[in-house]
Amino acid sequence: MADILYIVVPCYNEEEVLPETSRRLKEKLTALIGAGRIGPESRVLFVNDGSKDKTWTIIQSLHEADPIFSGVDLTRNRGHQNALLAGLMTAKDRADMVISMDADLQDDIDAVDAMVERYEAGCDIVYGVRSSREKDTFFKRFTAEGFYRVMNFLGAETVFDHADYRLMSRRALEGLAQFKEVNLFLRGIVPMIGYTTGTVEYERGERFAGESKYPLKKMLSFAMEGITSLSTKPIRYITALGFFVFLVSIVFLIYSIVRWANGATVLGWASMICSVWAIGGLILLSLGVIGEYIGKIYLETKARPRFLIREVLDDHEER
Ligand code: UDP
Ligand code: MG
Repeated sequence: MADILYIVVPCYNEEEVLPETSRRLKEKLTALIGAGRIGPESRVLFVNDGSKDKTWTIIQSLHEADPIFSGVDLTRNRGHQNALLAGLMTAKDRADMVISMDADLQDDIDAVDAMVERYEAGCDIVYGVRSSREKDTFFKRFTAEGFYRVMNFLGAETVFDHADYRLMSRRALEGLAQFKEVNLFLRGIVPMIGYTTGTVEYERGERFAGESKYPLKKMLSFAMEGITSLSTKPIRYITALGFFVFLVSIVFLIYSIVRWANGATVLGWASMICSVWAIGGLILLSLGVIGEYIGKIYLETKARPRFLIREVLDDHEER
């Protein structure tokens, strides 16, 4: 028997793309099943991330019309990473391999064949990696590449130019299930799982309908920080304040040097005023950074559920 593949697709207000996306994914799955590459029980699993439009109704009717479509309905919007995790954890108990991709099919679905091939060759994790960024604006390319560099520099191991388009085997997902963190950043966690990994290159296109659900995407670091927002915001303001005060100290530094050069100062005044501002600013800045981490610890100790499922539509039993 060929192995079962589940394609997990998180959806937030995607009524405009779902009809086309489901059609193309069904075509892809049927072709793979027909060729005997994957088992006939393979499915497309849509995760409704608390959409405000007809997304869930569409998923329900897709499932009724054809059992190749499954669905998970979350109780409310939990964000891309959590919705994806909900889908992966649901699929893990029913499939041998799971591929995650976005609902807008910006990631070329023809890379699925190559991913399955790498899986058959013994890879437990196969990363989809963008082959070129020609279609991106200079700004987007510059910020995105800078993001990966900074991440790696700070010790967070991520795969260059890889988003959340990847294949994971069942046992890799079992591994992922053991990472309990609430501040979920899958791109950073998956490389920690280990096993044999591979990569598949693909071209990333434009969204064919609807608009980006990531208005803050331009600043990726922002998106990551957003996970901890709300209760840790005051701490972030301290950081900003510290930075501001530090900038002010630089202005004072220049000013006082000029005054000193003109001989218009009392002895010791310049150095006093500089150190008061510089040290004050640095202390605030450092407090903010430490606070940032305490905020994360605060959220982790609460260990709140990362997602709650209202309903699962799937014709398989968990295995
Ligand atoms: N998404 C989600 N929950 C959210 C925001 C986005 O499940 O709160 C999904 C969205 O439906 C899509 C994927 O995450 O399938 C990526 O979003 P999008 O394509 O808008 O991001 P972009 O490609 O612009 O980075
Ligand atoms: Mg997109």
